[in-house]
Amino acid sequence: ENRWSLTGMTALVTGGTKGIGHAIVEELAGLGATIHTCARNETEINQVLHNWNLLGFPVTGSVCDVSVRAQREKLVEEVSSIFKGKLNIFVSNAGTNIMKQATECTAEDFSFLMSTNFESAYHLCQLAHPLLKASGQGNIVFISSVAGVFAFPACSIYAATKGAINQITKNLACEWAKDNIRTNSIAPGFIKTPLVEGIMEDEEFVREFTSRVPLRRVGEPKEISSVVAFLCLPAASYITGQVICADGGITINGFF
Ligand code: NDP
Repeated sequence: ENRWSLTGMTALVTGGTKGIGHAIVEELAGLGATIHTCARNETEINQVLHNWNLLGFPVTGSVCDVSVRAQREKLVEEVSSIFKGKLNIFVSNAGTNIMKQATECTAEDFSFLMSTNFESAYHLCQLAHPLLKASGQGNIVFISSVAGVFAFPACSIYAATKGAINQITKNLACEWAKDNIRTNSIAPGFIKTPLVEGIMEDEEFVREFTSRVPLRRVGEPKEISSVVAFLCLPAASYITGQVICADGGITINGFF
């Protein structure tokens, strides 16, 4: 076994058409994995699959809204049939945010964010569990957020979904260790993706934010995908149940 390769491994990455998920697909493919991804927009899926196939990356994809229970079940059935009942890596990446003060949040905001960010992650783990177990060597990586670690303004529901993910990282790591499945979570800081395009245009906000980041800049999707890949490698075989902040140091900054 090559400790620094994913050759022969299979992966499911949700939300692979843009941003962090797109970088994760490319990173895992570059290390030798075969990947299935999903998103809601079919045109965009077809576009990225076309580009990846030109590059020789073994990636397939399907339309799935991960906030819908029946669509999650269908997705994992497809994955099971493509990868013959086995899966080495599940990356729960698809997620979104609605920035609002707690006093402004509606019941719809609550159920939309809970189902998209948290229920999807939990249920997909339940569905993927038999496949991960059958592979003999399974890895779950959640894309959480530093918003689930400290209080970031105007995103209390989002923060709760990410805090919940950080907790189940520990529970599943313990429950499924016997099945040789490791479970870890990555909490990114501010990363340049389409999700935060709007906020990035606010130069004042970006200046204020990066002034609190010890590395004094926002991050790139590749700086998250590399951590995902590391956690899935045999080289990381003793790491489970961890929430790893990849955030330029913002969560450890006291006064710099
Ligand atoms: P983007 O909005 O740039 O990309 C999100 C991807 O997920 C797209 O491919 C999108 O495709 C897909 N997606 C969104 N909703 C669903 C859904 N309901 N079902 C299936 N696919 C979906 O987001 P990022 O790359 O920025 O974020 C990825 C993850 O990283 C999220 O969990 C986010 O919370 C987390 N994160 C991001 C940070 C940042 O600063 N960018 C910071 C910390 C965490 P489509 O729209 O077609 O469905």
